[in-house]
Amino acid sequence: MAERRDYYEVLGVDKNASADDIKAAYRKAALKWHPDRWVSGSDQEKKTAEEKFKEASEAYSVLSDPDKKARYDQFGFAGTDGAGGAPDWSQGFGNLNDILNDLFGGRFGGFGGFGSGGFGGFGFGGGQSQQRVFRGRDIRTSVTLTLEEINSGVEKEVTIERNRPCPDCQGKGTRNSSDIKTCPTCKGSGQVQNITNSLFGRTVAYSTCPQCQGEGKVVTNPCRTCGGTGLVRRRETVRVKIPAGVEEGMQLTVRSEGHSAPHNGTNGDLLVVIKETGHPQLKRQGTDLYYTQVISVMDAMLGCEVTVPCLDGSYRLKIDAGTQSGTTVKLRGKGLPAVSGYGSGRGDLFVQIMVWIPRKLNRDERKAMEDMKYSDSFRPNLSRDDKNLFEKLGKKFDE
Ligand SMILES: [Zn+2]
Ligand SMILES: [Zn+2]
Repeated sequence: MAERRDYYEVLGVDKNASADDIKAAYRKAALKWHPDRWVSGSDQEKKTAEEKFKEASEAYSVLSDPDKKARYDQFGFAGTDGAGGAPDWSQGFGNLNDILNDLFGGRFGGFGGFGSGGFGGFGFGGGQSQQRVFRGRDIRTSVTLTLEEINSGVEKEVTIERNRPCPDCQGKGTRNSSDIKTCPTCKGSGQVQNITNSLFGRTVAYSTCPQCQGEGKVVTNPCRTCGGTGLVRRRETVRVKIPAGVEEGMQLTVRSEGHSAPHNGTNGDLLVVIKETGHPQLKRQGTDLYYTQVISVMDAMLGCEVTVPCLDGSYRLKIDAGTQSGTTVKLRGKGLPAVSGYGSGRGDLFVQIMVWIPRKLNRDERKAMEDMKYSDSFRPNLSRDDKNLFEKLGKKFDE
């Protein structure tokens, strides 16, 4: 294992950070590194993400607990190791949604949640019963959004094909309740014992009953509509509420809108991947937007007013006389909103002014320019701002 980093360093907060700062820092780390966000990454990326996520979670579990934090502040790792410092990962990483919901009191509707990844997941119900609880498969689909839709948030309809309980047998697999019998193989326990005798003694292992697939019951007179599975295929439309600020590749989880499970188990989820159509004029980077405004030499010298496209209409921007090519104007708050639960506020719209130089002049124009050529106003005389701007543009060129 790599050398352990200081918990404050891991979360990028200082020792005086408030509980809210620590929470926000962890949320940021979880969003970035949760393994659900890296399912399509390379093995190396997945491994790195997993380590980073574990590291951040461990740091958060200590720093978010006033007792543990106090011990850690006083004694370092020695103060928290063995005192439940590190979370238990034996049950997997947890659902990213649940993590965010825990952090923010369920305010957030949901991203992440890869669940069973389409393999028809099931789990064993806890407690007394060992009978298998079926869970329907998740369904993955996508929606394509314009930047305007992302700006405002939108409700979209998606049409999917999914398994739903059979209407003729109400999902039971048979029309007649008396045709549901206790499984003779496992006597209703859902499990069978496999006993092996070897040199080392007798070993008893349990496995899912092959006759009832763990359900503990069998159907003797299967429903003709669904063949006893209790499920029928349906093409259905689901309305999905998409919060403002989402980004390409994010995934929304709509709970219980996936496939129904056989034998009236729990439904899988509907996973909606966000796709963005590019905007013809605005470029997006996170919550910020970028636009290039081209003006003429005359407008740059004399000043002008231009109309900048915005996601909520347009914006009249005054350009001062003497504006240099490459100048960036920030329109505060004219960017995109942050997704609720992921950050706060709105991004900005950056307008870069570019001055277009005519490539050809007619004789009169050329004469007029030549007349002015030696005029003092045209001799470069850089202000401090000009120098800064040119230096910045030069750096961009280096990259
Ligand atoms: Zn059985
Ligand atoms: Zn049926």
